[in-house]
Amino acid sequence: MSEKEHKPATRLVEAGRRKEWTTAPGKPGGVVNPPVWRSSTHLYENVADLAKGRPNADGHFYYGRRGGPTQWALCDALTGLEEGADGTELFPSGVAAIAATLLALLKPGDELLLTDNAYEPTRTIAFGMLKRMGITTRTFDPMQPETLAEEITDKCKVVMLESPGSLTMEVCDVPSLTAIAREHGVLSVIDNTWASPLGFSPLAHGCDVSIMSLTKHVGGHSDLMMGSASAAAPVIERIRLQAQYMGQVVSPDDAALALRGLRTMGVRLKRTTSSALEIAKWLESRSEVAAVLCPMLPGAPGHDLWRRDFTGGCGLFSFIFAEADKAARGRFIDSLDLFGIGFSWGGYESLIIPADPERIRDHHTWPQSIDHGSGLGVRLAIGLEDPSDLIRDLEDGFAAMETK
Ligand SMILES: *Cc1c(COP(=O)(O)O)cnc(C)c1O
Repeated sequence: MSEKEHKPATRLVEAGRRKEWTTAPGKPGGVVNPPVWRSSTHLYENVADLAKGRPNADGHFYYGRRGGPTQWALCDALTGLEEGADGTELFPSGVAAIAATLLALLKPGDELLLTDNAYEPTRTIAFGMLKRMGITTRTFDPMQPETLAEEITDKCKVVMLESPGSLTMEVCDVPSLTAIAREHGVLSVIDNTWASPLGFSPLAHGCDVSIMSLTKHVGGHSDLMMGSASAAAPVIERIRLQAQYMGQVVSPDDAALALRGLRTMGVRLKRTTSSALEIAKWLESRSEVAAVLCPMLPGAPGHDLWRRDFTGGCGLFSFIFAEADKAARGRFIDSLDLFGIGFSWGGYESLIIPADPERIRDHHTWPQSIDHGSGLGVRLAIGLEDPSDLIRDLEDGFAAMETK
């Protein structure tokens, strides 16, 4: 039975633990984890060996900038989890993975079609750096797949998706959108950070590149920054070259931490998903809440698509206050004991930030199907605490909104 035939939970345990990275030649036995190979210089046998060079792929000692066994083990593990991928490139952050992928696939004069609910730094890359290079970006409404075909011109080379989208969390019809892109010869890239390959398989749903911020679920402990892009050949080679042009490399120590996080990602995601759903249902019953934007919750925007296409969820979702001004929302957030105020998510601890989706939307507003209430929301990242404690904390938050 090969690794890829095993169920995801088993693959998380096996992934990236090749014999050549966990044993010493000629020594019986071995170690469980691929060791941390700290290295800049890789050595050659002799001048002839040096002259021969090395294939430009993982698994070949060449020079530290192309990684070593610890980074290769992580790449191998991620490729193994990503259905349909031939390789994975690592980047020092999720944003670096997005920027390099778009640079690899676009050139001056090209157009990018970007989902209107994209992560804010993705918009900044598109409307800042790419614009300066003569690459034009237009946004489209991910919940109206039939309109995508009208937006595609001859110059369009990439459609960039995110599902669920940032802040408003709507799940879009990825197979329909990617089919339209493919029909027009356009590549589809998706930011799959929310679901991870355990919850959604981008390449099996028509995407050409699957990007993840490993800072979130894979790291899982709020102690590292990293990103990845996985794809089939030949697209992965284009991304690899771009990473090399820009000298992108991650440290072996961080790669080892990411591998360590990966081992428990399945159980962490199961737990945060069930806690998030419990908390989302409780929030739905509260009069202070206009809408709960949680893909796992029946009635949430795109919930039926989530049920159709996804195999899991996570602890990240938003809700909108029925009646609140910024001061009341501030009292709610400030009063919480168990939710830290900070960016990122996917760690073991719960977090909260104010969420104002309107600010990062172009011309498409947020889903019409939901009650916009006060228009003010928060994004919650549910951690591994007991959900009943988190609910009590949120209950105190609602009480604090009333007391000025
Ligand atoms: C955090 C995040 C990123 C960026 O990841 P970093 O590792 O913080 O650079 C990209 N996409 C989404 C959806 C994110 O939440």
